[in-house]
Amino acid sequence: MKNQLKKIDWINTLFITTTPILAGLACYYHFSIEGASIAPWVIFTIFYFLTGFSITAGYHRLFSHRAYKARAPIRLFFLIFGAGAFQNSALKWSTDHRRHHNKVDTDEDPYNAKRGFWYSHVGWIFFKEEDKYRGKFSSDLANDPLVMWQHKYYLPLAVFTGIILPALLGALFSSPIGGLAIAGLARVVFVHHCTFFINSLCHIVGKRTYNNDNTARDSAILAFFTYGEGYHNFHHKFQTDYRNGIRWYQFDPTKWVIYTMKKIGLAANLKKTSPQEILKARLLADEVRTTLISPNFAESMEELRVKVEQASKKFQMIRIEYKKLKREFKREFEGQREETLKELKLKMKLAKLDFKTSYARWRLLVNHPHIAVPGF
Ligand SMILES: [Zn+2]
Ligand SMILES: [Zn+2]
Repeated sequence: MKNQLKKIDWINTLFITTTPILAGLACYYHFSIEGASIAPWVIFTIFYFLTGFSITAGYHRLFSHRAYKARAPIRLFFLIFGAGAFQNSALKWSTDHRRHHNKVDTDEDPYNAKRGFWYSHVGWIFFKEEDKYRGKFSSDLANDPLVMWQHKYYLPLAVFTGIILPALLGALFSSPIGGLAIAGLARVVFVHHCTFFINSLCHIVGKRTYNNDNTARDSAILAFFTYGEGYHNFHHKFQTDYRNGIRWYQFDPTKWVIYTMKKIGLAANLKKTSPQEILKARLLADEVRTTLISPNFAESMEELRVKVEQASKKFQMIRIEYKKLKREFKREFEGQREETLKELKLKMKLAKLDFKTSYARWRLLVNHPHIAVPGF
């Protein structure tokens, strides 16, 4: 027992456990004495996004994974508002996170999901870090002057952006207690648990779409509560991709923020995994799962997987060729090219159809592994 107590990080424990109580008391005072007003909720929403995106687009996809490059003012912005989320400095956060990816689901994973929901969600924060990791940071981050500046002044920055600034804005538009209670304390708690879900529920709830080797999962519902980080299985497979939800309709506001920054010249070099690589991973993950249920399908699945991959590759190649020719055609207006273009378009449609047919057969097999599939 004495040894267990020695391992507890009392500062973290007190902070995590008392912020919800303080938030509750301050909100109660504000509502009962001052009465509710809209301004603190507007400030809450602004700070929810500013600090949350600074964690997901900044701490996570930029500093931890180098999924894109951002200009210095943007990096500074993420470091200042990321501090206001009270999740430690970017240097510490990103070093821990890289270890999570490298040692996922093992004792060396700081928020090992195999130790259960509560440990991976918040429990790990209550314990002191092991001596072997203390003070050891990723060298590229330790050589970044902006990251080191934030690390040095983390606490005053966190208190100013996370607590004082919401209270000041509250004073300006409504009441300082309202700003402090709702946009400061309650927002810290809210952003904490939304981002903590990535380490806990995103390793428990959802599908293992691209990789069966670890506990990370994809969930559209969790994406909604985690600024788009819910497509966590994809992220663990392709961690340097700037997107987590790869389809245009998948809810990944962090991806949209990064993309918008690129469009206005604030970000560059957005890393994207090729559709071929993504398809390959998905088919392999499907195959592993299905053959576990129906081992008899192993040989025929491998055959069909190769066919789907080849059909997709053929379609992608013709599409690239078609797009290139179309661009050239637009510039040159040559009559004879129109025929070639039409021919290529037809070839592309046929290749797409071939891919779609073989992939439909694949999905049928994967979704119904217990039944015999016609024509298989
Ligand atoms: Zn994870
Ligand atoms: Zn990550």
